[in-house]
Amino acid sequence: MTNEPKLIDPFARAISYLRVSVTDRCDFRCVYCMSENMTFLPKKELLSLEELDRLCSLFIGLGVEKLRITGGEPLVRRGIMDFFQAMSRHLDSGALRELTLTTNGSQLRKYAGDLAACGVKRVNISLDTLDEQKFAKITRWGRLAQVLDGIDAAQEAGLQVKINAVALKGVNDDELEHMVTWCGARGMDLTFIEVMPMGDIGNENRLDQYWSLKDLRRQLEEFAPLVDVDDRTGGPARYVRVAETGQRIGFITPLSHNFCESCNRVRLTCTGELYQCLGQEEQVDLRKALRDNPANDRAVEEAIFAAIAKKPKGHDFDYSRREVAGEMSRHMSHTGG
Ligand code: SAM
Ligand code: SF4
Repeated sequence: MTNEPKLIDPFARAISYLRVSVTDRCDFRCVYCMSENMTFLPKKELLSLEELDRLCSLFIGLGVEKLRITGGEPLVRRGIMDFFQAMSRHLDSGALRELTLTTNGSQLRKYAGDLAACGVKRVNISLDTLDEQKFAKITRWGRLAQVLDGIDAAQEAGLQVKINAVALKGVNDDELEHMVTWCGARGMDLTFIEVMPMGDIGNENRLDQYWSLKDLRRQLEEFAPLVDVDDRTGGPARYVRVAETGQRIGFITPLSHNFCESCNRVRLTCTGELYQCLGQEEQVDLRKALRDNPANDRAVEEAIFAAIAKKPKGHDFDYSRREVAGEMSRHMSHTGG
């Protein structure tokens, strides 16, 4: 079945990629993401699994070909494997090209096999350090051994693993070579993410942790000659390869680069708000559209079209003047990273 793009924004960008946060909850409390005493949303605020299925299926009907499930920690949502199972029907029909997720890895020993059985082929696992103590400090509640075991489980299940690491000055800048070699030896791509100003996280100061990926890349080139590659995904990642090994390394630099012109994605929060841009506050309440129209999919599609018609040209993040401009009040765990 061909799936013609029907969601075209005002800047002629076709929307083919939907990221869906299925929960704001998490079993970790990463310092750059949440405060330790986060208050989570009451359950009734969240889209039910049935509502998620209905909405994602409508998006797929409108040309979305790639669905990334995120959170919070998607694998702590009760019943989430039923949702993956349900979405796999769109892979079977050919309407969906890719079903994937971003996870902290803590639950992969339990779920990697089931995910593979649902047609998931690739998974992004967040891991900022290979040092047990640093890991405990960054994630507050996480245990490195459990995540490493989750990575093993994912690879044993045949999932292709990409590691996402947030670049944190004074935290993991001394581990660059180790992380690159460790991932290379395991056949895993590695992507670095600049820390973004999302949500109130208590006393942490992100500017102190900010490690520009330009500097990171320079440091990387000291031990691994790199070649540029043109693997663009429509997202904020740019890729290089390590000349010697061919290992792919990505850089997500939403703050220091403008990647908006090729943006093909929108984000659905766990409460059904559709954000057209990670860096803008504007959103459309699709939960209301769903709940007001239990038997009228056309009305929900109209709400989706109306939302896409408001997709802005780009975002406003700016750290350049050593102050956080364009800071977002919502948390990454709500929007989905
Ligand atoms: N819990 C899952 C995980 O950690 O992979 C999925 C959700 S998490 C919000 C998605 C990604 O966002 C993770 O790679 C995390 O490191 C990243 N992230 C969270 N807060 C961030 C921030 N303030 N700046 C940059 N990346 C952030
Ligand atoms: Fe949880 Fe992921 Fe946020 Fe860490 S980054 S607290 S694992 S949602």
